[in-house]
Amino acid sequence: MATDHTPLAVAQAQLNLAAKKLNLDPRIHKILSEPKRSIIVSVDIKLDNCSVGVFRGIRVQHWDVRGPFKGGIRYYPNITMDEVTALAMLMTWKCAIADIPYGGAKGGVCVDTKKLSKGELERLTRRYISLIVDYLGPHRDIPAPDMYTDAQTMAWIMDTYSQLKGYSVPECVTGKPVEIGGSEGRTEATGKGVIHCVKEAASKIGLKLKGAKVAIQGFGNVGFHAAQLAHEQGCKIVAISDSVGGVYSSQGLDPQAVLVHKEKTGSVQNFNGATNITNEELLETNCDILIPAALQNQITRKNADKIQARMIAEAANGPTTPEADKILSERDICLIPDILANSGGVIVSYFEWVQNLTREHWTLEEVNKKLEAKMTKAFNDVYLITQKEESDMRTAALTLGVGRVADAIKTLGLWP
Ligand code: GLU
Repeated sequence: MATDHTPLAVAQAQLNLAAKKLNLDPRIHKILSEPKRSIIVSVDIKLDNCSVGVFRGIRVQHWDVRGPFKGGIRYYPNITMDEVTALAMLMTWKCAIADIPYGGAKGGVCVDTKKLSKGELERLTRRYISLIVDYLGPHRDIPAPDMYTDAQTMAWIMDTYSQLKGYSVPECVTGKPVEIGGSEGRTEATGKGVIHCVKEAASKIGLKLKGAKVAIQGFGNVGFHAAQLAHEQGCKIVAISDSVGGVYSSQGLDPQAVLVHKEKTGSVQNFNGATNITNEELLETNCDILIPAALQNQITRKNADKIQARMIAEAANGPTTPEADKILSERDICLIPDILANSGGVIVSYFEWVQNLTREHWTLEEVNKKLEAKMTKAFNDVYLITQKEESDMRTAALTLGVGRVADAIKTLGLWP
């Protein structure tokens, strides 16, 4: 494989790996290699200065044999069809590994949210949804938050969909604010799921969480909650970073205090008592557990042999390249792959959808208990395969996910 592979090339290579392990029927392999539907739209909106903004919108629906399409929408400059397709494919495996009844999808709009006003963002979201509305719906495709979209974005999506249908449809989107049908615990769910996996993995490799040194790259919703929950478990958060750069303290950082500082100054850098470091230095920090919670392609063949952590939990999607995977596996570093580690978000999305469909509202305790049960089960399903097949966790997770989807295709058959 080329070194400068695209996200889709990586996702295809991962599918090939699972297909080989599973001895997959080549016809099913062929079907799963391509998404079922890819949509490109031009999202045209009025800007505050009376000019017009034209933004490219994408929605890719990979495969829906196990249930309706499900996946986040990210707002990010330079999003490509290649990347969104790869992420949609990963969602298919992720939902199958978590054993929730969904297929994979992903959406994106090429936009720098920092350059738009709140009003412009609202118009952008409503216009984008109106352009793909025929392909969405509670039994078709259910969006959710992803990079640079949040509960407010989901509220606009619910309202747009409902206005166009003529009645309120809270179950058309997840990750909504609680007051309009969102689930308790959705905001922190991805970070929580990461730490459930870390706990399970730590017990398998004999790592004591109390006092374990943790470094976290990315301090958005997922990074912050992972940091906060690891801190509550007694871990020492030695390094945190955001897009500007990072901070290090051998004494440990209080994530809540770092958040307050970031909200005040715009970055985690220059935090009192800590040393500024770069994002590259953060990855190579002396720590036990490394949590990449930012962008893809962060751990590469250039730095994989410099990673000091014993465990890596991929909170971001695709932070490790295939060459780095190989190096980490040879170095016996325990890597919990994205499609397992960050599935807490979509699991609680599923709980939200079930609550909406049944017009119920569960307590936070109930949600957290169910999340822990699902994450622990998924982790151990994957772990069992690593033992049986003597494979690393990524290969095992892919084998489980792809295998479940392939079984569904085989049973359903190909229509007509
Ligand atoms: N965007 C999240 C992910 O990549 C959540 C998706 C969802 O809740 O549907 O898993």
